[in-house]
Amino acid sequence: MSQVREKIAQAAKVARRSAADIELIAISKTKPAEAIAPLIAAGQRVFGENRVQEAQAKWPALLEANEGLSLHLVGQLQSNKAEEAAVLFDCIHSLDRSSLVTALAKAFDKAGRQVPCFIQVNIGDEAQKGGCAIADVPGLLAEASKADIPVLGLMCVPPVGVEPAPYFALLAKMAADNGLAGLSMGMSGDFETAIMLGATHVRIGSALFGERA
Ligand SMILES: *Cc1c(COP(=O)(O)O)cnc(C)c1O
Repeated sequence: MSQVREKIAQAAKVARRSAADIELIAISKTKPAEAIAPLIAAGQRVFGENRVQEAQAKWPALLEANEGLSLHLVGQLQSNKAEEAAVLFDCIHSLDRSSLVTALAKAFDKAGRQVPCFIQVNIGDEAQKGGCAIADVPGLLAEASKADIPVLGLMCVPPVGVEPAPYFALLAKMAADNGLAGLSMGMSGDFETAIMLGATHVRIGSALFGERA
């Protein structure tokens, strides 16, 4: 973990930014509690999962045993899991459609907490990926605001195998155009580039935990 933190600090320095403005989210999907515990012991406090069910199986015990942790959802969310997500997660990075705005607003009411969200954008316009179309961002933002859902910013996963920088730059421009400060972008292979382009939240899995099976 210290190596990743060092790289984040270095990229922030090059970008003339403060490393304190960049949240490292340790993505622990597929990893058992025994793999997560050493990171908690080393001081990591923010973690991310991509599946509600997997997180429900793993995290309640870890959250119970350790103070001050926060858990983010970075994977696609089905509307019928919104209630569970509202209880377990402290931030949701995958708000990407009207029906989910409705489901989350209801779930937040029921849970008695408004969980901050990122709007996920399908930045490479890929059929198989989650995220709303670029053109739909302003409309979705307006709907979220009307439903009292706090939106921190925009999130994306750029296409695999091509230079990600143009996609990060586009997401940053869209966030600025819409008055949003948060940018959830950058994974193990490209977080330094994302930081150069303004990422406020980097989602790092394999660089911390090793490759997934
Ligand atoms: C798995 C995942 C990550 C982390 O990916 P790594 O390449 O292992 O760092 C980040 N964001 C999302 C949405 C993911 O599903």
